[in-house]
Amino acid sequence: MAKRTTRRDSALAVVVQGNGDVADNRPSVALQDRRLSFGDKWNYAPAPESNSYIKLKPRYSLFINGKFVTPRSGKYFDSINPATEEKLSEIAEGNARDVDRAVQAARRAYQTSWGNLSGRERGKYLYRIARLIQERSRELAVIESMDGGKPIKESRDIDLPLVAAHFFYYAGWADKLGYAFPGRTPRPLGVAGQIIPWNFPLLMAAWKLAPALACGNTCVLKPAETTSITALHLAEIFQEAELPDGVVNIVTGAGDTGRALVEHPKVDKLAFTGSTEVGKRILRAVAGTKKKLTLELGGKAANIIFEDAAIDQAVEGIISGIYFNQGHVCCAGSRLFVQEGVFPHVIRKLRDRISTLRVGDPLDKNTDIGAINSRMQLDKICQLVDSGVRQGAELVQPPLRLPKKGYWYPPSFFTGVTASHRIAQEEIFGPVLSVMTFRTPEEAIERANNTPYGLSAGVWTDKGSKIFKIVNKLRAGVVWANTYNKFDPTSPFGGYKESGFGREGGAHGLLPYVSLT
Ligand code: NAD
Repeated sequence: MAKRTTRRDSALAVVVQGNGDVADNRPSVALQDRRLSFGDKWNYAPAPESNSYIKLKPRYSLFINGKFVTPRSGKYFDSINPATEEKLSEIAEGNARDVDRAVQAARRAYQTSWGNLSGRERGKYLYRIARLIQERSRELAVIESMDGGKPIKESRDIDLPLVAAHFFYYAGWADKLGYAFPGRTPRPLGVAGQIIPWNFPLLMAAWKLAPALACGNTCVLKPAETTSITALHLAEIFQEAELPDGVVNIVTGAGDTGRALVEHPKVDKLAFTGSTEVGKRILRAVAGTKKKLTLELGGKAANIIFEDAAIDQAVEGIISGIYFNQGHVCCAGSRLFVQEGVFPHVIRKLRDRISTLRVGDPLDKNTDIGAINSRMQLDKICQLVDSGVRQGAELVQPPLRLPKKGYWYPPSFFTGVTASHRIAQEEIFGPVLSVMTFRTPEEAIERANNTPYGLSAGVWTDKGSKIFKIVNKLRAGVVWANTYNKFDPTSPFGGYKESGFGREGGAHGLLPYVSLT
């Protein structure tokens, strides 16, 4: 009787008799090496989110004084879908004169409308904006995924709900500012210039706009050049909410546009989220002026797994810590520290788990890892991974077929990493993890803090006492215990050291937008 194997490549190949009975002559495989493997027989069918109803404009103008206006520069640049490399639209490139127009409009609105409104009235506008965002959240999530490459399940279930939640949350504060600063009188600062990155385009806009508006400031927002479209759809929501003209102005463009905003003399407050390198430049430019500044910069977070942790949960935490949003996350758990006793166990599970992650079409509802945001970012990831290999670390990647067009990178991790490797020190900002080991809690703390950054960290252990001991010694703005990458508008977020200063979110997020007397 002919025999056939159900799987060609699995160590667990089950030998099946011609009549379908399983024979008893299976190869013996050690328990820890056993895998359930269904080959390609258990693939998900495509589940694409429809985008046929999305109406993108062929060209997006600047949003100044409540209207869409052509840029004085007369220049536009392309916005590309990173999953297909197709051009989605053209975006206006604002120059210094455009920035000036926007700042003047914001100043007028501050003096004539917004600055004179009661907190209660400001709150009503913010509630209205929050509800309109909820109404249009599916459409905004689809555009976010098309323009930025992030999986629809993340833009739909994480980004957009959080965007609305931030407006709701700060709407609630607008008429209660006195309670946030007992015994003090908070006053708005005036015009806030706000510059944001491309990894969470709408969410970063919400983090900046909602508290600024709640406190009575007016805003000029500069989105990142690769992901401007959703901010301009948010502008439509501001129109629909009948937000007074000039309260929010959006000037698109690249670094030069951002610089013009930083250097504008009539800006009272600057809020920047982006790289540490640009943050330092802004700090120098603002030094000696009266501008108030907050900086939310890069990170290289330590995610620490102790031997007593629930390992399966910890592995899920590692996955969400580094592969969420393609690793384009400032607080990503990009340095993994595993206690030596469980290192082989964790690595085995991690290796298995990353081979289940689905990389591909961001609009497919089953996609775990979408497209890398831009060619430039992909080049940066490749360059840092090359440096890791050259410096002697061992790269682990699952066998994957990546789409031919677009910018992609497989979920990856390095073992054999030492503290001096570039991949242990520099922010890769992609789906690449550097794994290291430690023996004692003291060593874990020392190694975790051995970085110029201090944005976030994670601790996994069964012992509550250990959590308290460790988190108090980690020099990081946010520390998650037995979880990772959890965000909430009520919770402050921000860094130490080269990760910046100032806090966004929570009652703390009001402070950068008021002066107290
Ligand atoms: P980036 O610094 O290159 O750009 C950020 C923004 O600044 C963009 O809008 C860009 O156009 C603008 N810009 C560039 N040069 C400028 C200049 N000279 N003056 C004024 N504006 C200028 O950063 P990026 O590559 O867009 O974003 C990735 C970085 O952002 C990462 O380092 C990441 O860690 C960081 N980030 C931090 C947080 C946080 O909350 N700490 C959140 C998200 C991203």
